[in-house]
Amino acid sequence: MQQRSNHINEIRKINRDKRASDEIVEIAKNVEGSNEDEFDDSIENPENEHFDPLEKAEEYDVNDFPPREVFPEDILDREGRKTDSVSEGAHDVLAPISEYGLEFIAFYKSFRYVNQLPYRGRWGIFIVESLVDDIVMELASDLNMTFQESFLIFLNYLYNHELFHFHTDAASLHVEGKYGKNFYRVAKKRIKTLFIDEWFEESIAEHKGLKKVPGVRLKNRVLTGDSLVQWFVNFVEHSPGAYKLGSLNVKKPGLYKWPNLSGNYGSQRNQKSMSIYDLFIEQLLVEGRFHLNRVIRGRESQEFFYDELNNLFWNQRMLSNKFAYRNCPIYWIKPYRFISASLKSLATISLKEGENFVKKYLAGKDQDEEGKSLRTDHSYYKIDNGEKVKFPNNHLKDLKPFEFTNIRKKAGMTSPEFSKERSSTKKWKHNCPRKESKDPIP
Ligand SMILES: [Zn+2]
Repeated sequence: MQQRSNHINEIRKINRDKRASDEIVEIAKNVEGSNEDEFDDSIENPENEHFDPLEKAEEYDVNDFPPREVFPEDILDREGRKTDSVSEGAHDVLAPISEYGLEFIAFYKSFRYVNQLPYRGRWGIFIVESLVDDIVMELASDLNMTFQESFLIFLNYLYNHELFHFHTDAASLHVEGKYGKNFYRVAKKRIKTLFIDEWFEESIAEHKGLKKVPGVRLKNRVLTGDSLVQWFVNFVEHSPGAYKLGSLNVKKPGLYKWPNLSGNYGSQRNQKSMSIYDLFIEQLLVEGRFHLNRVIRGRESQEFFYDELNNLFWNQRMLSNKFAYRNCPIYWIKPYRFISASLKSLATISLKEGENFVKKYLAGKDQDEEGKSLRTDHSYYKIDNGEKVKFPNNHLKDLKPFEFTNIRKKAGMTSPEFSKERSSTKKWKHNCPRKESKDPIP
């Protein structure tokens, strides 16, 4: 376990020198500048219910969420931060992530939009600190790890996910510069209007993040490993749409059938079985209106073009030095109002719901019913796996987060499992009690 933290070295290398990130902004201006008028602003998105932090955050005044700049050394120096009272006020952050994806807690803002809201004048990776703390607490308690170790491992996963968005941005700029045809802005705008199942960039980003979890390996087309790796794989598999594909071998052709996409993507390449990664590149080009036939003539040069893109969008070393990962800034931010509002309804469950969870879902039997007349402020239930669960009696309140975690673990459920079952049983109304009991989590 001790060596795990050594895997986190990349974060230490972030460039403190603002000149490097400013230079990237200048390069982008030069590359994009030539055909600014091609941006397609006509795309409306009336039904978009997806969570887009950039869009949501634009609704608020910039003073609502003052960014707190942080550099890697600051992160790494925080030993044992908040270790005693982390449970208090902790959020069930896993449920919104399973709905909105990892962008609920962190997002990448392109260097192309540096002068737009939110965080005008800055670009890079923005991470909601308090939500990371919530997850780190879950991870530490699920796997009996120190807070710091969980923090470093989780942050590295998150960082590498977001870095892929930077990579896509940078690689696109390379192609735009070379072929004199912009596509990134239009592509991103259009892809946002598609179903979350089709956000293939997120599949690759999750894959890149997962690959940084210590001990991960690829087996039978999926990423796998010890309990730590499984925790992350489980986390990704409970994410929405294309996010959850990140645990698969994204470069394996034909891993999935894409019936409804074959019309949109792949026609340029006329390829029957594409990998998730092929789809990602194809989508950027197609949605970005990068008409291959008009830009590159001849089949052979088109194949060369795809080979070039395959390398460029996958390998960091194919990017020019100016776009080294360390030149992508990271910032901590506070949750803005949309996030705070989403979390409010998902803060730890009420006692009433907790009782339904224990009595209905876990088939809990009230131990006090048998004989004892003395009512205390707690009841004890025996649940389906034989465990005894302590339950407070004041029905007006919510379960305290640590009480909730205790019960959840006695029921043998991880947080993502709890969230998933909670929604599939409609808060313990359907399919109760559960079919099979589970061993408690120590
Ligand atoms: Zn992402």
